[in-house]
Amino acid sequence: MAYLGLMTTTVLVVGGGPAGMACAIAMAQAGVPSEIVEISEDWRPGGIGIALQSAPLRAMKQLGLFGALLAVGRPHRFIDMCGADGTRFAEVPQVNVNDPDDPPFLGMARESLHEVMVAEVQRRGIPVHLGVTVRRIGAADDSGVEVELTDGRVRRFAYVVAADGVNSATRASALPHAPEPAYAGQVIWRAAAKCPPGLDRYTMLIGGPVRVGLVPLPDGGLYLWMLDTTIGPERPPRDQLLELFQERLGRFGGAAPAVAEQLTDNAQIDFRALQWLIVPPPWHSGRTLLIGDAVHTTTPHMAYGAGLALEDAVVLGELAGSGLPFDEMATAFETRRFERARLVVENSLQLSRWEQEPGPPNPGANRLVGETMATLAAQI
Ligand SMILES: Cc1cc2nc3c(=O)[nH]c(=O)nc-3n(C[C@H](O)[C@H](O)[C@H](O)COP(=O)(O)OP(=O)(O)OC[C@H]3O[C@@H](n4cnc5c(N)ncnc54)[C@H](O)[C@@H]3O)c2cc1C
Repeated sequence: MAYLGLMTTTVLVVGGGPAGMACAIAMAQAGVPSEIVEISEDWRPGGIGIALQSAPLRAMKQLGLFGALLAVGRPHRFIDMCGADGTRFAEVPQVNVNDPDDPPFLGMARESLHEVMVAEVQRRGIPVHLGVTVRRIGAADDSGVEVELTDGRVRRFAYVVAADGVNSATRASALPHAPEPAYAGQVIWRAAAKCPPGLDRYTMLIGGPVRVGLVPLPDGGLYLWMLDTTIGPERPPRDQLLELFQERLGRFGGAAPAVAEQLTDNAQIDFRALQWLIVPPPWHSGRTLLIGDAVHTTTPHMAYGAGLALEDAVVLGELAGSGLPFDEMATAFETRRFERARLVVENSLQLSRWEQEPGPPNPGANRLVGETMATLAAQI
């Protein structure tokens, strides 16, 4: 309790993923100092590839990172929709909310997004404490909160922003009545490969209960995802991953065989059960506010989870710089963010549920995506 009474304007950000890093950058832009604690020691991103939609790219413009992203991302103006044999039946133009020449959709390696953000965090001199997390958040008073960190230090912060992802430990302590993440009923397989010659566009192959996305990346790379409703959520034994993956990929034509032949090792295959979560407001208690996947986790059907996290950060940075008392700031944040997050989470889940139904693809799916993207085009 030795620190009680001391004033500080420093904010503690818990989690160094897209939400946490973007939050710290947006705060720095607003003149609010912050520090990040990141539980992992090596600080590498999970996953393989990622796509950012146009509105999140607008948020990246506000964070000053758009140019750096263009250098590491591959633009996609259309998604080709194909049958399982690779025959194209539609091309879906992607919504652009930015300048007409800007790419509406950017595919990149997860590592590239991470490196762009880390470079900006470092350029701005934001302290990052790796292998450290919060042991205890003390009682809040009018000007701050005392936090005990796992490195043994007890520090006083203006407030805490928890960006510790879908399995947020902070959520469990700060919002004990929040719902838990739920299984969406689908799993996703992912792999990286070299892009086969002739594959220039983001291509989806629809094969009943399994669908594949082939996302060309810069430098001849490819990100493959495969949504699957034919297997349960438990991760299969590691030594069976390749065989189970190839069994499913084997039903596809087009560029799929040229990708399949490159994948020869269980270690190349990533498997994950899809989860979803939308926490009803409030997203804060005491002087702790949750953002990103910690309060809204979406299935990847709209490729918008990181997008929401980046937008959260921009809005929070704006509010943090306004000098509002914490409670008012947090409530204003939730008011601006909840409906948008709900829309993405619930509509993505709807797409997932339609994909789990037997029979041909639901004709409402493209309309739902189009309507959602049109709504998300509005300023945040
Ligand atoms: C299969 C799949 C595909 C996806 N594809 C896309 C896509 O194409 N486009 C898109 O926009 N989104 C996509 N997403 C969603 C996106 O990955 C997430 O929404 C995004 O990573 C959320 O960012 P976050 O910072 O909130 O959480 P995370 O990315 O989970 O980051 C949380 C960070 O906090 C750290 N941490 C955890 N616990 C603690 C703790 N107790 N203390 C300190 N640190 C902690 C973690 O190590 C991590 O660094 C996809 C998701 C999945 C599952």
